[in-house]
Amino acid sequence: MDTVRIFDTTLRDGEQSPGFSMNTGEKLRMARQLAALNVDVIEAGFPIASRGDLEAVQTVAKEIRDVPIAALARAKKDDVSAALEALEPAAAPRLHVFLATSDLHLRVKLNMTREQALEAIAAMIRYGRQHVDVVEFSAEDAGRTDIDFLCQVCRVAVDAGATVLNLPDTVGYAVPEEYGAMFSKVRESLGDPDGITLSAHCHDDLGLAVANSLAAVRAGVRQIECTINGIGERAGNASLEEVVVALAVRKENFGVTTGIRLDQLFPASRLLTEITGAQVAPNKAVVGANAFAHEAGIHQDGIIKNPLTYEIISPQTVGVPNRSLVVGKHSGRHALRMTLKDLGYEASDTELAEIYRRVTTLADQAKQVRARDIVGIAHEVIRRRPAAVATESSSIDA
Ligand code: MN
Repeated sequence: MDTVRIFDTTLRDGEQSPGFSMNTGEKLRMARQLAALNVDVIEAGFPIASRGDLEAVQTVAKEIRDVPIAALARAKKDDVSAALEALEPAAAPRLHVFLATSDLHLRVKLNMTREQALEAIAAMIRYGRQHVDVVEFSAEDAGRTDIDFLCQVCRVAVDAGATVLNLPDTVGYAVPEEYGAMFSKVRESLGDPDGITLSAHCHDDLGLAVANSLAAVRAGVRQIECTINGIGERAGNASLEEVVVALAVRKENFGVTTGIRLDQLFPASRLLTEITGAQVAPNKAVVGANAFAHEAGIHQDGIIKNPLTYEIISPQTVGVPNRSLVVGKHSGRHALRMTLKDLGYEASDTELAEIYRRVTTLADQAKQVRARDIVGIAHEVIRRRPAAVATESSSIDA
């Protein structure tokens, strides 16, 4: 079975969206969990954006040795130099160069002709390849780029030495059939060459980021760029947990596999909410507090008889803790604090007191308090904390 590689950009596209800034220590904690999840690439930052981000990429590259580390750069010499400097300590560095290719972006944003764009793409990929073996090129706004020009861009990028071609739907405008067809045309025009990986990068402005990513897989794409909890510019990126669980649950349908350790998904999601203070919506697929909660009597009855009646994935598969809980009306706050920590929640003393009150009330009524009940209560009590102070970072998005 073919493998789809998972390129995680939580620390770059995710991190550059409002309220999700991470400092070096926070990026490192997250990167360790991404390694535990077994992602195929960690995009650690955008080094030209700030000295701090350059150092964060270096720090991640120094410690995380068994996962390739990527750094982003516009197709400009200074950007590429900063990214190469950041990647110097990496065991498996990947330079990620991007340039917008739609006529709208070229004209309005970059004031470049198509010819100038092709020259910049070729020159910066060649410069990168003098220093690292793997260069990925992204045609920003590929989804709105003239298809013939896009094919020409891809040919130039491959000839210059890029081995990964990422064609993002930067503005979340595409619909699945259209996005898949774009990849089919590009593949055809390249003659399906060995050693070239096509990559999808989708945004969720129309709620289609995951659907578009899956359509790309059907069209032969073998790398998906995504983020934990779907964080990212505006409405976010394709959510990693949704993409990989869809590919796992419907494996026969897609005929591909990923290397992701599914039981690390929930811990990864909770770690990110702990670091950023931004909770996921309770009804969020796979990792939301309600994703495995059953309220209606008919559903509860079915679940007790056989979970398959209303669950297409078990909570344990994605790492939702399911051990018998020590929390009951006789247990103390300390035990509750530890259980919350296991579930990814760091409660203040006031929050803990309120969660404790609700959990013991529930224990009185229900005898048994399950992990998912505690997640639901903690989610309600721990309100969104003040967002981290935004650091200097570019709004340019690949
Ligand atoms: Mn993006």
